Amino acid sequence: MGYDVVILGGGVNGAGVARDCAMRGLSVLLLEKADFGVGASGNSSGMIHGGIRYMLSDRKVTELACRDSGYIQRIAPHLLFRIPFLMPFASARAEATLRERAEWYATEVYVGTYDLYQPLKRGKPSTRLSPEELYALEPALRPGLAGAVTLDEWGIDAFRLCTLNALDARARGADVRTWTEAREVLRGDGRVRGVRFRDVLTGEEGQAEAPVVFNATGAWSPAFARRSGVPVPMRPGKGVHLTLDRRFSNYGVICSAVDGRQMFVMPHESESIVGTTDDDYYGDPDDLEVTHDEVEYLLEGAASLLPGVRRARITRAWCGLRTTVHAYGPNEDALSREHQLHDGAEHGAAGLLSLVGGKLASYRAQAEEATDRILELLDRRPVPCRTHEEPLPGGDEVPDPAALAREWPVAAPVAARLVFRHGSRAREILRLLADDPRLGLVLCRDEAILAAEVVWCVRNELVRRLQDLRRRCRVALGACAGVDCARIAAQLAGRELGWDEGRIRAELADLLDQGWRERRSVADGAQLAQEDRLRGATGLLEVP
Ligand SMILES: Cc1cc2nc3c(=O)[nH]c(=O)nc-3n(C[C@H](O)[C@H](O)[C@H](O)COP(=O)(O)OP(=O)(O)OC[C@H]3O[C@@H](n4cnc5c(N)ncnc54)[C@H](O)[C@@H]3O)c2cc1C
Repeated sequence: MGYDVVILGGGVNGAGVARDCAMRGLSVLLLEKADFGVGASGNSSGMIHGGIRYMLSDRKVTELACRDSGYIQRIAPHLLFRIPFLMPFASARAEATLRERAEWYATEVYVGTYDLYQPLKRGKPSTRLSPEELYALEPALRPGLAGAVTLDEWGIDAFRLCTLNALDARARGADVRTWTEAREVLRGDGRVRGVRFRDVLTGEEGQAEAPVVFNATGAWSPAFARRSGVPVPMRPGKGVHLTLDRRFSNYGVICSAVDGRQMFVMPHESESIVGTTDDDYYGDPDDLEVTHDEVEYLLEGAASLLPGVRRARITRAWCGLRTTVHAYGPNEDALSREHQLHDGAEHGAAGLLSLVGGKLASYRAQAEEATDRILELLDRRPVPCRTHEEPLPGGDEVPDPAALAREWPVAAPVAARLVFRHGSRAREILRLLADDPRLGLVLCRDEAILAAEVVWCVRNELVRRLQDLRRRCRVALGACAGVDCARIAAQLAGRELGWDEGRIRAELADLLDQGWRERRSVADGAQLAQEDRLRGATGLLEVP
């Protein structure tokens, strides 16, 4: 097998580079050792934000992220949703001090300066809110706040963003393989010759030849490149999030953690997310787990402004590793969010490019720069990038859910979720109902997943394992933890993929175990007992 470029990693960067390279006429192999978005991308805060935090230290990062956020809205309009944030002003005393007032004024000016970038991403300008206006918008806030300033940002389904980039690359001729791990870079005469890989589901091994290997394996990059003698300096930072079972606030709320670091509670799709921590991480990226301490740290910070979160049900605690550019000295949250491309040429591996740093929000621009570099390395004439103009699959039109609900026997909220996840392809999914009306069954009431959606994803979106459906259409990811949807989804996937009963059961156990791993750091006392009941009911708890 020969290609122009082999891309390693199906996170947003690998998938984004694969799409751009395929669009510019290169022959591409994309290898992902698990599924799209399982690393930092799908475990990020999912914000296509402009990086207001970096405006003073890294103005370029802010501008790039805002500009790219605008482009992502153009190519995937169905997949984004607005998240207006409130930055409340809290005083430690009954009467605010002069210093506190000056700080609030400075915050207002700072956010006002960010407004200059808002038109790039169709954001609304900020506003100062009086205490009365603040409590009218967000009554759940603790009493005694002195008003707030607003900040407009965007959220996205990051799993689907990765998947759509990879699928578009495939539609443009790229060879895309999930559950396939790159094991070794092949080298000779001081340059790369390709990679050796292994399908982790079948055990099959293979080799692909290519003059360029693009290492987009995120936090795995340094160890992977080191095996070829190439240093890739990175300072990985662990970030933890909690998911609450419903929309807990009307708006995103910026809070302070006990150490003064900024964090947030935000509505995200049908849930709320509390995030995030940022701590240096020296362990194995495959061994990442949330600790009970981290859960408490986040809850304490969130409860400082929204005391009711203490009574919320935490449905998931999940984490990822930031791939931050290495610097010795600064605290984790002060590290630059710039990105860098490392070339292995100096270390006897010319043609091995590794990406470090960057943001989900500027993935497209990072991919554009990487593809320009790959064309240079291949000695090809420059071809203009079009990834900011051509829609991602389903991004050409956002159908009206109410019209779809009139045309097909589905409720409007179900149609709305379908449009959110699939854009214009929602029509193709609903067309399956014409042949088999039973596919109109709603499998999950939390996430409004149609049986037809599961079948369509399995047929069209490179689903190889049942757990891939968590990331394609949120099977077992909602507040019900799969009680409603997992078994039927397993049967539907099994029928499509020809699995026998043993395989269906194994896939179901694996899917539900994923959820359990995201809940066990949260569970204690009565909740732990409830979990055991659930695992017993689903047959996952071994009875001695
Ligand atoms: C907690 C947290 C919150 C964040 N929030 C935001 C945010 O709100 N907005 C924003 O813009 N950015 C955010 N970021 C940053 C953003 O998520 C990352 O910059 C981006 O997702 C990195 O993508 P990536 O493709 O480089 O890495 P990853 O998404 O980690 O992808 C690397 C992939 O490589 C695969 N892989 C590893 N080894 C191999 C191998 N040998 N062979 C094949 N595949 C392999 C992995 O399975 C993985 O899927 C956040 C990051 C974190 C951790």
